[in-house]
Amino acid sequence: MTTSLNRYAVFGQPIKHSKSPRIHQLFAEQTGQDLQYTAQEVSAEQFTVTAEAFFAQGGKGLNCTVPLKELAWAWATHKTERAELAKAVNTLALQADGSVLGDNTDGCGLVRDLLVNHGIALTEKRILLLGAGGASRGILLPILEQSPACVVIANRTVNKAVQLAAEFVHKGCVSGCGFADLIDYAPFDVILNATSASLSGQLPPLPEDLLAKQGVCYDLAYGNEPTAFVRWGLEQGAIKSLDGLGMLVEQAAEAFFIWRGVRPETQPVIDLLNAERTSL
Ligand code: NDP
Repeated sequence: MTTSLNRYAVFGQPIKHSKSPRIHQLFAEQTGQDLQYTAQEVSAEQFTVTAEAFFAQGGKGLNCTVPLKELAWAWATHKTERAELAKAVNTLALQADGSVLGDNTDGCGLVRDLLVNHGIALTEKRILLLGAGGASRGILLPILEQSPACVVIANRTVNKAVQLAAEFVHKGCVSGCGFADLIDYAPFDVILNATSASLSGQLPPLPEDLLAKQGVCYDLAYGNEPTAFVRWGLEQGAIKSLDGLGMLVEQAAEAFFIWRGVRPETQPVIDLLNAERTSL
């Protein structure tokens, strides 16, 4: 069934707890855009058929989350440079000629949250990136574009960190290692946790004294309570220890801009979601 409604959706598995429909509904109300945004449970096996049907039936754009970002990258007709390098796509946008553009807005969402919302610059900073999965891939290029002094990627499976660094080394100073090697590279001004350990209340096995004085910690994961990594950052003396709710809203705003050509204001939405979680 083809309709004239501007239809958007997020695909993923699990998807029940996704905040994306709420965020995009708030953006649409704020900017006076007429659209519908739904969340749909889609497994990796179902992705291609479901995405094809969505666009064939008049859908205008999709967000893709775990475990679909790599599949969306392979499926998109063409990709932006940041998505191409990331090998992961979180935003699919129907183009006027019927093709579908794949982009990755995670990295610019993170950088915007750090820079604009929290006043944390990355230029000339020593940055530690924990994890070498899809999220790390997505954020590396936007981080390197800020010209940090260096980025060290540390991962449980060490060769994934080394491999990821090798793929981006032409874009800036980046190297990969295991958690135990980190003491040789410390201290770091900014530590970003892009492992999924927080989702199960765990912490990567981090040596002491990794964080520089006046250092900042940022967990890409978020929850209604401070994550294990946010708490670790505070224990290590971070001047700020933040979670990824702001990044979530910022990556959504960038997707909204790609789809609708209008940039929503993010701060009121971040404030609202923050107020809602502290009132729980
Ligand atoms: P992936 O599954 O692709 O990668 C997971 C990474 O975490 C791997 O590097 C893995 O190491 C590591 N890991 C998992 N468990 C542990 C553990 N117990 N100790 C140490 N390392 C561990 O996930 P994503 O990259 O897609 O997501 C990572 C995080 O980023 C998630 O928390 C996700 O919610 C968050 N995220 C937040 C976004 C936002 O908008 N705020 C956007 C995107 C992601 P190994 O390679 O050894 O398995």
